[in-house]
Amino acid sequence: MTSQDYQQLLANLQAGSKTAEETFDSETPITMPVSQFHITVLRRDECACQNCGSTLHLDVAHILSRAQRPDLATDPRNAVTLCRKCHLWFHTHRHDFDLFCEGHRVEIPPIDDGP
Ligand SMILES: [Zn+2]
Repeated sequence: MTSQDYQQLLANLQAGSKTAEETFDSETPITMPVSQFHITVLRRDECACQNCGSTLHLDVAHILSRAQRPDLATDPRNAVTLCRKCHLWFHTHRHDFDLFCEGHRVEIPPIDDGP
């Protein structure tokens, strides 16, 4: 996994030339142990949420879900570091996650913790 692969994927998405699905179809999936996968993604993303920049409660989020593409479950190019807040938000607002992958920052409203 080189960071060029990831930059190429993002460039394709941002240019709208290829969807994530199409980009991965032309590539051989990268497989690695889950622990290594997590470390690779976190290191590449400099241990910060790629949406809001938070360095707390970080998750590794899949771009194409494991259900969609089990072969890409440990491919670092198919993952991005997100904080738990952004990750939860994108899970319930898939359209916003697609926008994010296309290079738009998504403003996550504050979570109402109740009174
Ligand atoms: Zn975040």
